[in-house]
Amino acid sequence: MSTEPVYQKCLDPDCGATQEMRVATFTCPKCGGLLDVAYDWERLPPPRSLREFEAKWSQRTDPIAFSGVWRFRELLPFADRDEILTIGEGQTILQRADGMANRVGMKQGCLFMQYEGMNPSGSFKDNGMTAAFTHARQTGARRAACASTGNTSASLAIFCSATGLMRGIVFIGSGKISYGKLAQALDHGALTIQIAGDFDDAMERVQQVASRLGVYLVNSINPFRLEGQKTVMYRVLEALAWEPPDWIIVPGGNLGNSSAFGKAYMELRELGLVKKVPRLAVINAGGARTFDELVNKRGLTWNGGRFSRAAVNSYYAELDAAKSRANTIASAIEINRPVNLPKALRAIDVMNGVVRMASDQEIMDAKALVGAGGLGCEPASAASLAGLIQLREQGVIAPSDRVVCILTAHQMKDSAATVAYHSSDPDNFQQVLGVRGVKRASHANRAVQVPNELEAIVRSIELYS
Ligand SMILES: *Cc1c(COP(=O)(O)O)cnc(C)c1O
Ligand SMILES: [Zn+2]
Repeated sequence: MSTEPVYQKCLDPDCGATQEMRVATFTCPKCGGLLDVAYDWERLPPPRSLREFEAKWSQRTDPIAFSGVWRFRELLPFADRDEILTIGEGQTILQRADGMANRVGMKQGCLFMQYEGMNPSGSFKDNGMTAAFTHARQTGARRAACASTGNTSASLAIFCSATGLMRGIVFIGSGKISYGKLAQALDHGALTIQIAGDFDDAMERVQQVASRLGVYLVNSINPFRLEGQKTVMYRVLEALAWEPPDWIIVPGGNLGNSSAFGKAYMELRELGLVKKVPRLAVINAGGARTFDELVNKRGLTWNGGRFSRAAVNSYYAELDAAKSRANTIASAIEINRPVNLPKALRAIDVMNGVVRMASDQEIMDAKALVGAGGLGCEPASAASLAGLIQLREQGVIAPSDRVVCILTAHQMKDSAATVAYHSSDPDNFQQVLGVRGVKRASHANRAVQVPNELEAIVRSIELYS
C-alpha cells in the first residue's frame, strides 16, 4: 500500500502492485497489466451526498466549477486546483428523446440521449483529455502523443493548441479516418505521423515511441483519462435529479468509456452515494466484435479479476491466423484488440451488463433516426441506438425502462458517411464509403433533382412538403 492518498494500482488481484501517482508509464511495473487510479477516500473526503455538487452551479464564473469534468473533482481528486488544465469541456446535456422513443417502441419520457458531441473538439474524448493533460502537467511532460482513429487526436490537438503547454504528436494508421477528425489534428497544429499500417499497428508504435522518448501517452490505456470520463455518468445523474436510470448504452471500441462508467458506479456504490446501479449495454460494431465474441460466445467474465487470459489470447491468435482485420463504417470503434478489455469486464460485473453487436446497416439506419430525432452523431455513436433497438426486440429492455444512450460524438465528424447514406444509390455505398455492409438506406432523405425553372421548383415543393 502506498503512503500517498492517490496512487496507481494493478487491476490483477493476484499482483496488486502499486505505483506512484506522478509516474507516467501506464502498465503495471510488476506484471505489465492495466493500472487503476486509486484513492484513499479516508484522506480525501468525498461529498456526503451527490446533491452537494449542485452548489457548483452558483460558482460558474470559476473555470473549475464551470468544467463539466472538474465540478465533480471531489470524485477524481488527484490534482490541486492550480494543476488543472481545462478548456471548458463537458458542457454536455442529457436530451429527452421522445421522437426516437416512438420509433423504437419506448414510452414517452423514458429515452434520453447524452450528447457528448457538444464538447470543444466534438467528442466525449475531451472529458478524458482534460484529466490526462492535468496529469501530464503534474509529471512535467512537454510532449503528448496518441494513436487514434480520429477523435482522440482531435482532442489531443485542441488541448495542446488551447493551453499552449504541450506539443501534440498524433499517430494515425492508413485505414479509415474521417476527414473531419484529421482536419482538426492538422488545423490545431499537431505533428501528425501517418503509419503504413492499421490502428492496432499505430497503437503498438506509439507505445514504443512514448517509452523511448519519454513522451506522455494519452491513449485510453492511460488510467487518468478514464477518471475524466467517469464524469459522463455524474452528469447523467445530475440531469436525472440524482436518480440513476435503468440502462446506460454505449458504443464499445477500446472500451474506455465502458470501463470508466463501471469504475464510476463501483466508487459511487462503495462511497454510499447511490442506492441503485444502472445496467450497462456495450455495443460493438459487427466488423470489430471482440468484446461481443469473448463475452457472449466464449463465456468470458470478470471473475473477481481472475478472468481467462488464455481465452483472450487464443481469440487474438485466431484473428492473426485468419489475417482478420477490424472493418466497419463506424471508424471510431474499428478496433479488434480493445486496450481496456479487463476493465470493461469489471464494468459488466459492476453494472450487470450485456454486450451486443450491430451491423453497419443497423448502425447507419440508427444514425439516421438520431438525425431525424433532432441530434446529429457520427456512425460509431449510433451503435448505442442500434443496440437499444436490438435489446427492445429481444425484450431485454422494456418500454418503460429509463434508458440513456451515449452519443459519443458530433455529426460533423464524419459528414462523408452522412452524405453517402442520404444521397447515394445503395449500390454506390461500396464505392463512396468503401464498405460493403450497408445495402439500403431505409431512412434516406434524398435531395430532389429539379430543372432550373421556377414552376418546376414550386411543383416539387408542393409535392414533397
Ligand atoms: C473513441 C470513440 C468511441 C469508442 O470509445 P471507447 O471508449 O474506446 O470504447 C466511440 N465513439 C466515438 C465517436 C469515439 O470517438
Ligand atoms: Zn500487476
